Amino acid sequence: SPPIGSPSVPATRLVVLAGPTAVGKGTVAACVRRDHPDIWISVSVTTRRPRPGEVDGVHYHFVSDAEFDRLIAEDGLLEWAVVHGASRYGTPRAPVEEHLAAGVPSLLEIDLQGARQVRERMPEALMCFLAPPDMAELERRLVGRGTEDAEERARRLRTAVDELAAESEFDVTIVNTDVAEACSQLVDLIRSGTSRDTTP
Ligand code: 5GP
Repeated sequence: SPPIGSPSVPATRLVVLAGPTAVGKGTVAACVRRDHPDIWISVSVTTRRPRPGEVDGVHYHFVSDAEFDRLIAEDGLLEWAVVHGASRYGTPRAPVEEHLAAGVPSLLEIDLQGARQVRERMPEALMCFLAPPDMAELERRLVGRGTEDAEERARRLRTAVDELAAESEFDVTIVNTDVAEACSQLVDLIRSGTSRDTTP
């Protein structure tokens, strides 16, 4: 059999899900969380305030700026980024390493800046791009969510247009036409346990 670490060995089952703002990453991840408890989903740290219904330690670890600084200083984050020019978000490093070492299929739902950092640091991670069916649908979802004011929506939409261009950097694209379908495709990808082929 091939040596451990060979690209053909499904040693790592880390999938990174990224995509433009408001494409539905959170909804697809929530579907995985609800229906597929065998898949571990990383809980990010963030400096933003909790929204109504969000539970500390479940949706995010809500931390102060000082705590976030400390995590960076002690190299406790696999990646981190300022998202939408406001709050900081990051992936705690140790839980990812522990779950991968234990062979647990794992998912990171993060922004594009973070995805690029993970690709650099863990080239075996499978990079999955969640794409909107089209731009009009993306705008409709941004409005429908109703969590941002008009100015913030306009800013996020401009960001989303730029972000669509990043698709070419990814290994796989899932088009989010239907949440249940996108969720099922993502779960198949995570369970298949196939590492990205990193041979030159
Ligand atoms: P929200 O504030 O709506 O929960 O999330 C805003 C954005 O932050 C989403 O695009 C989400 O993917 C991204 N995000 C959440 N957690 C992380 C993380 O740990 N790292 C990075 N880079 N982005 C994250």
